[in-house]
Amino acid sequence: MTAPLCETRAVVEGLRRLVDKVPRVQLAALPTPLQECPRLSSVLGGPRILMKRDDLTGLALGGNKSRHLEFLMADALSKGADVVVVGAASQSNLCCQVAAAACKLGLESVLLLARDEKAYYQGNVLLDTLLGADVRFVDVRDRREVFKLCEKVAVELAHEGRRAYAINPWSFAGSLAAIGYVNFVIELCGQLSQMDVTADYLFTAATDATPAGLLVGLKAIGSKLKVVGISPGLSQHESRVLVAAIANDAAKLLGLDTHVSPAEITNHDAYVGTGYGKTTPECLEAIKLVAETEGIILDPVYTGKAMAGVVDHIRNGRIGPGETVVFLHTGGVPLVFVYGEELECVK
Ligand SMILES: *Cc1c(COP(=O)(O)O)cnc(C)c1O
Repeated sequence: MTAPLCETRAVVEGLRRLVDKVPRVQLAALPTPLQECPRLSSVLGGPRILMKRDDLTGLALGGNKSRHLEFLMADALSKGADVVVVGAASQSNLCCQVAAAACKLGLESVLLLARDEKAYYQGNVLLDTLLGADVRFVDVRDRREVFKLCEKVAVELAHEGRRAYAINPWSFAGSLAAIGYVNFVIELCGQLSQMDVTADYLFTAATDATPAGLLVGLKAIGSKLKVVGISPGLSQHESRVLVAAIANDAAKLLGLDTHVSPAEITNHDAYVGTGYGKTTPECLEAIKLVAETEGIILDPVYTGKAMAGVVDHIRNGRIGPGETVVFLHTGGVPLVFVYGEELECVK
């Protein structure tokens, strides 16, 4: 027997009041749809699968970063920023979403993109350019090194009289981003109770702020829904430490006394393959399967690996045919256009 997602409506409303106290700007078209995937479910042999379409947040081509940025950009605005600086891998979904959010809010953006194998004008880099971001390729790959460069650029911009806001994913920004997924829990809860569905698992591609927010939100309302994170690159140990730290900062920020410890976090690293940004045959198979059964496009870096995790859990019986899975589609769709060669080998 599974427990309901939400113990009481009043508890959820209590959480909503806490989230509503945190400054926020509207960037995403919410709620995102929660859709049944009956053909996918039947091909996989049973479990009910619902997909929460955060690829449809309506900011550029969508994704989980839209929700993060509702809180992050509010912080940037409150600090009087006129330009936002962020950096990551060349095809970063975060950077593209920052560029789009900056447009919507009348700010400028500077993107420091690593000059890696995918650093060409397709996918997110093409969108970054369309969005008018100041795209600068840098010969640094380590994310922490990229962030140091962002801070340096922010200082340079300040010398030019600009008010620059550098996004540091490991500090306060991480916990602000996580609030976006505490808010998601409230939204999902409403949709599930409206559809009269009790879900057992919430699968998601997960590195840091997204699972942190989910865990805090679900814990705060006493839900038994089990978050199963699938890592796109980090080891389970690395992500556990990261997620717990962000979750506890986010809880503090909301004034909650919920505590998340690393040991209670599931963030499988069995679907990583040879590393972040490297596809696996199972990932490619999952992308094809979802495309051909449901007409939904997953991405080769995050959601394809996460769905490979769902498929594997069903095939090896860890999820039973009578159970219900919510799959969080976190976006990343522009990435299919830079993985054409890899995707072509799925026949
Ligand atoms: C960034 C990203 C994730 C991971 O989100 P975190 O908040 O870092 O856990 C998952 N999926 C997609 C498509 C992303 O762009």
